[in-house]
Amino acid sequence: MNQVSSMTPKVYDQQTLCLYCRELFDEKKHPQPFSDEHIVPEGIGGTHVLPNAVCPSCRTLTSNTYEVRTIRSTFQIPRIILGVRRKKQRQRNKKRGSPSLPMVALGNNTVSIAEPDLTVTGRDFPQLFHLPKFDRAGFYTGIPNDDICTSFRVVLVDLGVTNKLPAGGVTVSIKIDFFEFAMTLIKMAYSYALANNLHLQTDINDIRDLIFGNRTDVFNFFGSFESDSDKTSELHTLSHSVLKGLVIVKLHLFSAYTKQSYMVVIGKSNQGPISVSGSSKMKLPAFSGNRIALVDNAVKLNTNYDNTHVRNPNEMFRANEIISDKMLLPKKNRILSYK
Ligand SMILES: [Zn+2]
Repeated sequence: MNQVSSMTPKVYDQQTLCLYCRELFDEKKHPQPFSDEHIVPEGIGGTHVLPNAVCPSCRTLTSNTYEVRTIRSTFQIPRIILGVRRKKQRQRNKKRGSPSLPMVALGNNTVSIAEPDLTVTGRDFPQLFHLPKFDRAGFYTGIPNDDICTSFRVVLVDLGVTNKLPAGGVTVSIKIDFFEFAMTLIKMAYSYALANNLHLQTDINDIRDLIFGNRTDVFNFFGSFESDSDKTSELHTLSHSVLKGLVIVKLHLFSAYTKQSYMVVIGKSNQGPISVSGSSKMKLPAFSGNRIALVDNAVKLNTNYDNTHVRNPNEMFRANEIISDKMLLPKKNRILSYK
């Protein structure tokens, strides 16, 4: 079995304000402490904790939504094959049985999209997983991305363990919801930003509006870095920098295994709000199942792995031919302007 990396645990200072609504913690008003917040979710091995950080009403806003669904979909394979599930869950699973890897189909079913019907467990499962790769964030490039994911690729992360797969290999089907994936990472970057006092050097109201569902231009804030980062010994590596006058959080998830990383624009460095000229700021209700269902950004990928598969780390699959035309809307080349 691979040597699985972990994240060096870190506990930040006790918070006095709710991360999201910025309400002050008041012992008279709040008999119970606020909830702790894991910057990277525990479900994928996050061990950086902000104590007393989320008030009860924001807890309902931010839990059981896109984050949980992303952990159970895009992150399901890596969290199981890397064994990075949360401790509590492992104890619970002893009673109930582990969350399962997706079923696979025998042979190459990438075209026919046969329904997967075979269960393989543990080391018999191909030791690979996918992460989506996006364009750079709209605020960073100056080209608005709004709430539509105009193009994406899928990065294959290979753990370098060769399995004996059946002749013809197996086909693994994965589903990635880009919008939910992006929002999950935006939430991580936001809590990282507040934990590291980045709100003292930028206006966090725009990204807060996004988290509260008051705006939808997700891909103005979120994207992938254009160049590879160094791999690290940590399971996940979070950092921040000022680039092009923007405060940017870099999320290098599974950094022990992949070079690709994501960017989240928190705001304009030392300045007022960032804005896009002509961008629609839609007023929407807070996140709910219905809200997410309206965003048709999920894609299903069927990938065949066999014993002759050329395992280039970070091999790129051009996924454009797999996704529907709806997702490839032409980019509007409006130029961003800053207030
Ligand atoms: Zn709150």
